Amino acid sequence: MSGASVKVAVRVRPFNSRETSKESKCIIQMQGNSTIILNPKSPKEPPKSFSFDYSYWSHTTPEDPCFASQWLVYNDIGKEMLQHAFEGYNVCIFAYGQTGAGKSYTMMGKQEEGQEGIIPLLCKEIFDKISDNCNEDMSYSVEVSYMEIYCERVRDLLNPKNKGHLRVREHPLLGPYVEDLSKLAVTSYTDIADLMDAGNKARTVAATNMNETSSRSHAVFTIVFTQKKHDSETDLTSEKVSKISLVDLAGSERADSTGAKGTRLKEGANINKSLTTLGKVISALAEVDNCTSKSKKKKKTDFIPYRDSVLTWLLRENLGGNSRTAMVAALSPADINYDETLSTLRYADRAK
Ligand code: ADP
Repeated sequence: MSGASVKVAVRVRPFNSRETSKESKCIIQMQGNSTIILNPKSPKEPPKSFSFDYSYWSHTTPEDPCFASQWLVYNDIGKEMLQHAFEGYNVCIFAYGQTGAGKSYTMMGKQEEGQEGIIPLLCKEIFDKISDNCNEDMSYSVEVSYMEIYCERVRDLLNPKNKGHLRVREHPLLGPYVEDLSKLAVTSYTDIADLMDAGNKARTVAATNMNETSSRSHAVFTIVFTQKKHDSETDLTSEKVSKISLVDLAGSERADSTGAKGTRLKEGANINKSLTTLGKVISALAEVDNCTSKSKKKKKTDFIPYRDSVLTWLLRENLGGNSRTAMVAALSPADINYDETLSTLRYADRAK
């Protein structure tokens, strides 16, 4: 996969209290880059094995030599993506998996030391790198936006006064964008952390007001990063703009089709549609990539269905073309979640 534009990782978390109280068994094993899942309903069935760029074992405690910490995950994935952004690529990191599998923990984490996720660690490092590289000829600017996509509608998390949904439009040169979405300039990690906090609170409040849970929406945190280089000999200034999108996806579990009615049914259908479309887009891109890297004749890609969901449409510039993508699939270790976990592994497998 080296050089490929999509990096895929899976990560298994510790048991939660519900799983512990049910005396769940761990059905995931990891060896190197392989992740193996055992079918608890059919113990004689051969285990299914998958191979990814990274398989993160976070099921035990930091004392376990195999334990994958927040820092390790950031170091492998976040750092590389940030480096690509400095090189001028658009990048996208997203977390996929059923609700409670560890998506927010991986992306956002907790504020305690050692528990911060990819987003805060990456935001900190942007400013460290800027202060290392800033000089009289190099200058940088950082702007952030934070939105939520729920039922194909976009809400601005940095301007909760704007309660309505925003229009998605297409710029002839710059591509799809959200009209009137707040884009705020930041000059330090503290600025970003404050905005992220406010945005996360707005997300919870909006969800509660509408009788939803935030696990039914996609949260997209975007950093627009501009590097300006002044050439003192020619007195010309060149500019490189990269967009970093960090996405905590809606829970991938299937809506219970028997019980779901009205809003819930519509919600489920929308989530399935956007996750399915995202899967199709990523595997189409991975296929182009694999064909190119094996120097076969580039397969005429089937049309890439960006337009089929608001999520993929808005991420178009971060997924195709001049971009680098990483996906972390979050897994529950427990036998009771076998079906959902297998479906997450299959989704991740198609993205390679
Ligand atoms: P999701 O965002 O997929 O719904 P969360 O990230 O909120 O799931 O995780 C559910 C719970 O599991 C949280 O309490 C979280 O702190 C915990 N958790 C998830 N992943 C890990 C991990 N790798 N290590 C420790 N705790 C984790």
